[in-house]
Amino acid sequence: MRGGGLRPATAVGRVGRRTRVTEPFPRVAGELCCGGLTLRELADRFGTPLYVYNGPAIDERYLAFERAFASVDRLVAYSVKANANLAVLRRLAALGSGADIVSRGELHRALLAGIEPRKIVFAGVGKTEAEMRAALEAGIYSFNVESAGELDALSRVAAALGVEACFALRVNPDIVSPTPHAYTRTGHLETKFGIPVGETLELYRWARGVVGLRAAGIDVHIGSQIADPEPYARAVSRVLELVGELRGSGIELEYVDMGGGFAIRYGGGEAMDLVSLAQAVAPRVAGTGLKLVVEPGRYLVGEAGMLITRVLYVKRTDRKTFVVTDAGMSELLRPSHYGGYHEIELVMEQRDRSVETVDVVGPVCETGDFLALDRPLPVPQPGELLAVRQAGAYGFTMTMNYNGRLRPAEVLVEDARACVVRRRETLDDLVRGEVDLWV
Ligand SMILES: *Cc1c(COP(=O)(O)O)cnc(C)c1O
Repeated sequence: MRGGGLRPATAVGRVGRRTRVTEPFPRVAGELCCGGLTLRELADRFGTPLYVYNGPAIDERYLAFERAFASVDRLVAYSVKANANLAVLRRLAALGSGADIVSRGELHRALLAGIEPRKIVFAGVGKTEAEMRAALEAGIYSFNVESAGELDALSRVAAALGVEACFALRVNPDIVSPTPHAYTRTGHLETKFGIPVGETLELYRWARGVVGLRAAGIDVHIGSQIADPEPYARAVSRVLELVGELRGSGIELEYVDMGGGFAIRYGGGEAMDLVSLAQAVAPRVAGTGLKLVVEPGRYLVGEAGMLITRVLYVKRTDRKTFVVTDAGMSELLRPSHYGGYHEIELVMEQRDRSVETVDVVGPVCETGDFLALDRPLPVPQPGELLAVRQAGAYGFTMTMNYNGRLRPAEVLVEDARACVVRRRETLDDLVRGEVDLWV
């Protein structure tokens, strides 16, 4: 990788303790950079707000995953909802990645990007029959099914097409996973996700006699932003017990899907250490003859992306200092949706600035529109650039047009070159599809 002299030799790992990767956005001579370009020049060329991705950083994380789980037969199925840009998907496809999709739209993206249909698993509690049909016609690997009703619908759709649908039941293992926010816990019985352990055997047995269905796997996904391998080991052990019982009934599966949710560092927190994770999980799976499916999302892309925003105003009241930026909840929803924490830095280091506790807020007319609350920050001046870290996952994919906001551009950097992988939305984009069509 050409670095234009900007890549410091010591830029090392923010991800886990033992999973060393290079820093995607190092600070060189006081300026934040990406792949040999400065973020300032990218903001000047492409405008703000702007998503910037470090391409090789995504590859590096994907390959770290493959390495960590090298001892088992595996499928790394990237969770497309984390970052669905075609350029990101194409890179991962080229490395052999599969995909974990949750809609027909994501299926379309995955196929366009060249991900092999046989490496696609379809998750989600609300698949429509049209979505099932499209996925079967594309020849995807398997459906991770979340209810008896869905399994029944899948059998009807598959039978009508004259094919067999491979499925796994997504088991709700009733594990309250240690995620930072209730909205990112999916493995306990109070969530809409999965099928209670006690009902799964019966459902597999029912499916055995049903036309159009073939039991291929068993699936769990316990939540997101989990840094501890132990709940994964517990969840996998729990479903492997079920695999044993199924064997006893003559039902042989071919894969166990442990889901995703592996933590990255948002600020001070811990990241999942892949080596420890693999050590905790792989030996349990190795003896079973099953393929292990893993569905990393944020782990592959989160730290490889930044949101660059320009400061519009600094507004002081008796109580607070507000830094008003040209990006807010419409560009990065995580802070307001589930209290997501993102590190924020000045793109150009300002050593003389006093550090104050500020709210970094966007232009959207909502009190809940903020990027950070009560954050100690060297107070920027209007016109200066801020960089919001760890924005590569659940950043652009959660953007919206609320308040007439235009979605930002996305730029991917590699070898000191920048590629616009999605152009900034225009006013025409904003009203596209709005017709007066009386029927
Ligand atoms: C969202 C999701 C993932 C990925 O979660 P990350 O926290 O991004 O790793 C994996 N599997 C399923 C079923 C999901 O819903």
